[in-house]
Amino acid sequence: MADSERTFDIGAYFATRALIEGYAEKERLVGVEMFMLRPDRWYEYPRWRCSKGHVSTNYLISTELGPVCLDCYEPVSLTFPEDKGGPLAPAESVKQPDSKEVRP
Ligand SMILES: [Zn+2]
Repeated sequence: MADSERTFDIGAYFATRALIEGYAEKERLVGVEMFMLRPDRWYEYPRWRCSKGHVSTNYLISTELGPVCLDCYEPVSLTFPEDKGGPLAPAESVKQPDSKEVRP
């Protein structure tokens, strides 16, 4: 598919972001430290997810779209460290982090 034929699925992008925000909210509710609405630990080994289910430790910077997927050039969002490629399961099924580290 040529770049000019590529369409950006804004609905899938926001649905993916909403699921990721559900994961972040579950961690916030157990009291972990947050930065920019994401748990601190997500930034330690950051992973990025696009709306097509690709998860990577890297992304490209697009001058038009910002950070985009290496595989399909869809915009990416910071995702949790345990995330794997493929469909993102609803946040209810997320396993809580084992360590409930309390920081001063
Ligand atoms: Zn992708």
